Amino acid sequence: MVNNESEFRVKVAIRVRPFLQREKTHEQKSCVAIHPQTNQIVVGDRKTFKYDFVFGPKTQQEELYETCIAPMLTNVFDGYNVTIFAYGQTGSGKTYTMTGGNILSIGEKDYGIVPRAVQTIFHTLQNRPDCRVTISASYLEIYKDDIIDLLDINDKALDVRDDAAGNTIVVGASEHTCHSVDDVVNLLKKGSTARHIGATQMNDESSRSHAIFTLHIEQRMREKNSSSLMIQASFDGLMKPAQAAFDESYLSAKLHFVDLAGSERVARTHNTGERFQESIRINSGLLALGNVVSALSDPKKRAGGHIPYRDSKITRLLKDSLGGNAKTLMITCVSPCIVDLDESVNALQYAHRAS
Ligand code: ADP
Ligand code: MG
Repeated sequence: MVNNESEFRVKVAIRVRPFLQREKTHEQKSCVAIHPQTNQIVVGDRKTFKYDFVFGPKTQQEELYETCIAPMLTNVFDGYNVTIFAYGQTGSGKTYTMTGGNILSIGEKDYGIVPRAVQTIFHTLQNRPDCRVTISASYLEIYKDDIIDLLDINDKALDVRDDAAGNTIVVGASEHTCHSVDDVVNLLKKGSTARHIGATQMNDESSRSHAIFTLHIEQRMREKNSSSLMIQASFDGLMKPAQAAFDESYLSAKLHFVDLAGSERVARTHNTGERFQESIRINSGLLALGNVVSALSDPKKRAGGHIPYRDSKITRLLKDSLGGNAKTLMITCVSPCIVDLDESVNALQYAHRAS
């Protein structure tokens, strides 16, 4: 299906958020300059990066959605798996970009890409009477390499396996059929409440976990086949169109929205014997994801099948939705503040490796 080399590549968007009120109060200085015409961003006085899309602090939710998300929904209806990531340090705008903030209280203008995509999907379906579509959703969290079901809270950590057709399955993950935008939003609310309760118990480790909201979209299309004019006698002797006059074609696709763990380096201090040692750790899932995504853009590694999906739960779980016949967008969120310069440079370098 895919024949253009660039089709395999993960697309990368950068979004720089505006200053927050408290940052304005403290007269924070900016360390980024945007050049939207050339899709470039300059950080500090250090480096210029170029990406597929670059959005500045004034970019509204609607513009970002229309520019880079809406076109991907066409891919979903064509049967491609699609994954959209939000990457960046805690406070850089990942959740704002994905959902629009706290799903329990956002207004329509602030709606992020998940509620907007859901609206588009249900709107499109209303205009497709030829097609029977089933939409279901699941909402998972990966914390310390355990997969947790946010819509069916229990103590079980879930497992991932591939089926014979190469589809990745999370064994035992609950899937909830949705008939409307409200159904989906209610699941988002339920999952986000579960996530917050968990986060309080874990001493606000939510920034260390990945949240994965997935829509499963199944389409059954009735297509007239060549014998559609055939008339068949039924048992009661009346004439009626033959059942065989219609073929049903089937397409299924997954659309993942992934709010990744904060990309900031976390300082860990331990006392090992007499020595005091400090290490700076990046979330191991993010590291593995970066390796998978950069391997995918390397034709040699891809041809050789050397994509290291097995190195983390997040890459295992998304295996059939990254690379190959899948479409992927990484939205890297960046703070404009000079105090965040180092983390912003790290995030932009990570994004650069992906593209
Ligand atoms: P993260 O999920 O990366 O930790 P958040 O999405 O919670 O970050 O954003 C941190 C704060 O910045 C929130 O108060 C959010 O409302 C605000 N914010 C982030 N991005 C934007 C934006 N593009 N426009 C307006 N406010 C934003
Ligand atoms: Mg967040």
